Amino acid sequence: MGIKAWFLTVVLLITGLAACVDSSVADKASVQPADRAAPVLYKQLDSFVNVREVAPSIVQDIRYATDNNFTHQKIYDCPACFLRPEVARALAEVSDDLRRQGLGIKVFDCYRPLSAQRKLWEKYPVPGYVAPPSQGSMHNRGMAVDVTLFDIAGRRELYMGTPFDYFGPEAHADYPGLSPRVKANRQILREAMRRHGFRGIRTEWWHFQYTGPKAPVEDVVWKCSAN
Ligand SMILES: [Zn+2]
Repeated sequence: MGIKAWFLTVVLLITGLAACVDSSVADKASVQPADRAAPVLYKQLDSFVNVREVAPSIVQDIRYATDNNFTHQKIYDCPACFLRPEVARALAEVSDDLRRQGLGIKVFDCYRPLSAQRKLWEKYPVPGYVAPPSQGSMHNRGMAVDVTLFDIAGRRELYMGTPFDYFGPEAHADYPGLSPRVKANRQILREAMRRHGFRGIRTEWWHFQYTGPKAPVEDVVWKCSAN
C-alpha cells in the first residue's frame, strides 16, 4: 500500500469514528427528571400519531414553528401535528364529518412539548390563556388541538371574529357582541368537535380538548424528518 493509500485509509477511519460518536451521542438523549431538563429527542414519540398519517386533508398551519404567533418567536423548530392516537382518530372523524358540509379543518397547534410550554409561559404567564408548566397543558399531553374551519371550494378560512391566539373577550365563547355569522361559524366548529369527543373552553374559540382519560405530560421533541 503506497503513502496515498495509507493516507486515504487513515482519513476514512477518522471519518467513520466521528460518525459513530455523533450517532451514539444522539441515541443517548434520555428523559431527565430535573425541572429544566433538556427535551427528549424523538424518544417515546411512538405513543403519538402524526395527524398527516391519519387525515392528510387536514391543513396544518403550525404557528409556533414560525414567528407568526403572539410571541413573535419560534417556540419549536419543526411544524408537525402530533396527537395521542385516539385524539388523532377523533380529529380525522371531525374532518370527515365536516367535509359533507363542504368544510375543512386547519390546525394551528397540536401536541406541544413541555419545554415549549415553558417558553410560552415566560412570554405570557397568565393562567386561563397559558397553562403554568408546573401543571402542564392538555397540549403537553397530546390531547388538545387549536383549530379553525375553512371552505373547501374557496380555500378560505371561515371568519371567526378574531384571529387565533387573540387574548381578549372577543375570543370568548360567550362574548355578547358576536355577529350572527361569527356565532354560526363558531357553532359549526364547536358542534362538530363535540360530536367526536372534544370540548371547548370559554376563553378561546379555537381550543378543544379530548375528553378521554388523561395521558401524561411529555417533553418529547420530534425530529424535523418526522414531519
Ligand atoms: Zn390550545
